[in-house]
Amino acid sequence: MNISKAFYGTTPDGREVDIYTLTNTNGLKARITNYGAILVSLEVPDRKGQLADIILGYDTLAGYIEDSAYMGATVGRYANRIGKAMFVLDGVEYHLAANNGENHLHGGDKGFNKVVWDAEQTKTEQGAGVKLTYSSRHSEEGYPGNLVCSVTYTLTKKDELKISFEARTDKATPVNLTHHSYFNLAGQGSSTILSHQLMIDADKYTPVDVNLIPTGEIASVRGTPLDFTRPTAIGSRIEQVIGGYDLNYVLNSGGGSLALAASVYEPASRRVVEVYTTEPGIQFYSGNFLDGSITGKANRVYNKHYGFCLEPQHFPDSPNKSNFPSAILNPGQKYTHETVYKFSTK
Ligand code: BGC
Repeated sequence: MNISKAFYGTTPDGREVDIYTLTNTNGLKARITNYGAILVSLEVPDRKGQLADIILGYDTLAGYIEDSAYMGATVGRYANRIGKAMFVLDGVEYHLAANNGENHLHGGDKGFNKVVWDAEQTKTEQGAGVKLTYSSRHSEEGYPGNLVCSVTYTLTKKDELKISFEARTDKATPVNLTHHSYFNLAGQGSSTILSHQLMIDADKYTPVDVNLIPTGEIASVRGTPLDFTRPTAIGSRIEQVIGGYDLNYVLNSGGGSLALAASVYEPASRRVVEVYTTEPGIQFYSGNFLDGSITGKANRVYNKHYGFCLEPQHFPDSPNKSNFPSAILNPGQKYTHETVYKFSTK
């Protein structure tokens, strides 16, 4: 296992950022920049041992600075949507940026994917890593409390990309951090993900309105095209889902301890990814808004459904839904979230 650091670029406000390369003894390679704590590339072998980069993204820092699709991003302070861009906490009304229609999405105008994080290299028994730390000040993007958070990426000997999030605050605040890579196990930019076979260990989901805000209901997936309890090709029923898949599944594990949430198999390369998480929910997004307007790494054009996201998290709009698991972090508590993407072939 190895780790190296190189200069990646300079932000428009003059800050130099780096790129860290983690490799393990099986040849897997992950590249992470401290701009946005973004995963820039992830090379994993196929059944024949051939490496390919299996996440979408950009060749240069400029791409990530312009990006509005959250490619490879660490999303915060609150991943996913908050209805009407507001919530009430301890009797105080907080107003956030309405950056998705009238709603708030992925932390606001300048979320955690658009800030420079401090970085520190780590080496443990499990593998090489990089720990990124960011202090979000009170009122930043409208959220209460000074929040100190970290995300540690570790590429393990067991071919896992382990992502550990931590946060502490000095005032009660919603916190929902997630990882937002667009995966394509056939190789980034090569095809749609419609033939990938997906399993999500969730019998239930949170139905949403037309603007993707949960209604508050928790419904069964049984008998609907949303049911992925058995491995099913993503494309086999996608036409029956208006707009494509973009919804939060209520994991059967209930969250709290690390458990298998989802797995995906790509038949041509025979690559497999399993997603384990401590979170109670997972957003499955089938890259519906990709429309060919982004040219990404290696000049590949990202058309509709060219990548899928599996984003472990608390449920969308939890600050306004008292029946959802609470996403409020109080002073004296520690927010922890661990997600593992484990790669293999079959
Ligand atoms: C959301 C999508 C959104 C995408 C990019 C996903 O997490 O579920 O609705 O378009 O992120 O912002």
